[in-house]
Amino acid sequence: MRKVAEEIIKAKFCIALTGAGISTESGIPDFRSKDGLWSRYDINEYGYLHSFLKNPAKVWKMLAEMAELFEKVKPNPAHYALAELEKLGLLKAVITQNIDGLHQEAGNKKVIEFHGSFNTLTCLNCGKKYSKEKIDLKNLPPRCSCNGILKPDIVFFGEPIPTKALNEALELANKSDLILVIGTSCAVYPAAALPIIVKRKGGKIIEINREESELSYLADYKLLGKAGEILPKVVEEVKKLMKNRLQKIQ
Ligand SMILES: [Zn+2]
Repeated sequence: MRKVAEEIIKAKFCIALTGAGISTESGIPDFRSKDGLWSRYDINEYGYLHSFLKNPAKVWKMLAEMAELFEKVKPNPAHYALAELEKLGLLKAVITQNIDGLHQEAGNKKVIEFHGSFNTLTCLNCGKKYSKEKIDLKNLPPRCSCNGILKPDIVFFGEPIPTKALNEALELANKSDLILVIGTSCAVYPAAALPIIVKRKGGKIIEINREESELSYLADYKLLGKAGEILPKVVEEVKKLMKNRLQKIQ
């Protein structure tokens, strides 16, 4: 913990990459887990862009359930710890594979959403944007004033990562000398490439996961356990070190 805190303070450009594992403690089951969405909804019928386009009313039933869950959940101590690191000037950005918006709710300003966001929706017919709050989930599928069907701005399977998010993430990874990898097994590209980019440029990887992952062999530090317990302790350690240094200078 102490060493990890030292690395965070020492780093010139630290970023974080987060995945489903950081939000499970907020009550959002990993989509792929046994309680997750894909255990109840067939991924082929609900998860792909072509499934949505073919039968939007059907897929919207699942999306409405998702929206309702996102409405209920709150950020957990792991999200708040990352927001605090950003406030301390020690974390430059969070790149997330999550679509729940919890990093922003916790207070992080610089968040790159790799898989889009549920906070906005776009009309498939005219392209008009709507915010989630304005949507009536009682009549599915929700429609635009032009009668076109609304699609949440999340990335379905078969859809590319939004170009802007991808470019920003690659740019950030190229600048970074330290990446915190939290709650993601790094099995899916291109997100999985980000820690490798940092490492190849001589930077370091700190992994915080429940268990070892495909990334573990590359990680310089591994903290295994719950992110909501580990990250606040890391931040405490960071603040202690910063205070000590300040006292020494004075
Ligand atoms: Zn429209």
